[in-house]
Amino acid sequence: MLTQIKGLHHVTSMASDARQNNAFFTGLLGLRRVKKTVNFDAPDVYHLYYGDEVGSAGTVMTYFPFPHIAKGHRGTGEVSETAFAVPEGSLDFWRGRLEHAGVEGIAADERFGETRLRFLGPDGDSFALVEVADDPRAPFAGGPVPTEQGIHGFRGVTMLLRDTGATAGLLKLMGYEELDRNGGLTRLALKGGNGADIVDLEARPDAPRAREGAGSVHHVAFAVEDRAAQLQVRKALLTAGAHVTPVIDRDYFWAIYFRTPDGVLFEVATHEPGFARDEDPAHLGEALKLPDQHAHLRTRLEQSLPAIAN
Ligand code: ZN
Repeated sequence: MLTQIKGLHHVTSMASDARQNNAFFTGLLGLRRVKKTVNFDAPDVYHLYYGDEVGSAGTVMTYFPFPHIAKGHRGTGEVSETAFAVPEGSLDFWRGRLEHAGVEGIAADERFGETRLRFLGPDGDSFALVEVADDPRAPFAGGPVPTEQGIHGFRGVTMLLRDTGATAGLLKLMGYEELDRNGGLTRLALKGGNGADIVDLEARPDAPRAREGAGSVHHVAFAVEDRAAQLQVRKALLTAGAHVTPVIDRDYFWAIYFRTPDGVLFEVATHEPGFARDEDPAHLGEALKLPDQHAHLRTRLEQSLPAIAN
């Protein structure tokens, strides 16, 4: 069993409108935009990152807003819900805040003894806020949400799968342990992780496969400290039969990617070098940052990408 994985690093999804996406995560949920850059493979599209004050691993929700793409359809073989940790007793505040903003799909529920509030993002993205006692991670203090109710970071993700066995085995190799089971849900958790420690697997043998689009999670990334730890994880995954990419420089972290047996795209990303690599921590996410290979496109991109509020 590997011990290098520290929990989630980031979750990356697709959106249909950059301005709407930015307003939802910064203006409504109160996260900090910690980077404004472009998709490495499609530089005409933003890559927007939202998280805590510095974009700590385990707090960062990222988006590729492809203008006008069709909505995705939930189904098997994808991350079906992303959950954020909020302070105990804060869900009444959140229900009022989300209702006031006209958010859809607001519904209270309980899972493995935790009190939760589900809601949908602007493109039908599935989210939940989960009350967690004594989460030591500081919510971003510079946004519109008081820190007494603020989001600490991710609690975890849920994956919807036809069969959970192979994915559970993979997560156990990565250091997760099975905590509980209830009906079709299996809860895995990482002991001593960064707070974004939970992966729930939901078995739905008869459900159709997911169709990716706006509101779909594109991939989920797990955190490791550095490139040495990443290489150890890569070696173990290759030995276990996974088809893992070489290490790729993503400017703010180093990444490897592979698909789970059910087709969910996993990434393993390093803490180093982080989002302060190319801008002052006091002004994270304000300027358009371009990877070196796309720097020559700056004039065109500054005209074509929609302006979004800081
Ligand atoms: Zn990623």
